[in-house]
Amino acid sequence: MLILLTNDDGIHSAGLQALADRLQSLGRIVVVAPDRERSAIGHALTLHAPLRAEEILADRWAVSGTPTDAVNLGIHGILKEKPDLVISGINKGGNMGDDLTYSGTVAAAMEATLMGVPAIAVSLSSKSFSYTDFADAAGVAEQLARTVTEHGMPADTFINVNVPPSKPLGVRLTRQGKRIYEDAVIENIDPRGRTYYWIGAGDLDFQDLEGTDFHAVQHGYVSVTPLHLDLTNYAAMDRLRQWLMEDFPVDSDSEAPQA
Ligand code: MN
Repeated sequence: MLILLTNDDGIHSAGLQALADRLQSLGRIVVVAPDRERSAIGHALTLHAPLRAEEILADRWAVSGTPTDAVNLGIHGILKEKPDLVISGINKGGNMGDDLTYSGTVAAAMEATLMGVPAIAVSLSSKSFSYTDFADAAGVAEQLARTVTEHGMPADTFINVNVPPSKPLGVRLTRQGKRIYEDAVIENIDPRGRTYYWIGAGDLDFQDLEGTDFHAVQHGYVSVTPLHLDLTNYAAMDRLRQWLMEDFPVDSDSEAPQA
């Protein structure tokens, strides 16, 4: 087995190291990861600057770009062949609900999916933002890597895994939950007398809905969510078709939505 590992916390992150150590028994592990933390960078791709990649240890590459760059470069430039699996993580902090759209960890798994490689994103949730023990999360990642290898990944699908901060009570199959964002911006004056702003400063909450990623982790379970890249809201297609029929000359034969 050839497994490509990456993350968005940077090549020196303890979560990535724990993952690499744990997966050694599965085959050849190649780490290609950003040379510094690039959390919340989303699915950004570096198209207007050169990328550098330095092999700081054998099969351990630090890339001067984003997590998505690392996966793209890892597959096409460094490995020059498709790995059997890409795992992104173990992220310091959960990646659940609407936060997925910001996540560099999840975006790296998305990139692998676009390249036709099965992918798993793994994140460790913590309320205190202290991350000392990645052992349980690494164990979950190893087991899922074995499971995916044995059963194969459904087409156009990757899995998003969130591990609770305490010893997991089990594993739950979940759907993506809903964040409640408090619209807080900190405005202050810097030492040079200029105004600065700090976004994302509000308390984070979520809708405590059964069956969601947040709910599972909140109750001490590992959350496993199958994701795909199709953002189409099929439930809204009938409504939009009505609007368009009224206000635009629409081809009445346009395809019926498929759930
Ligand atoms: Mn991160």
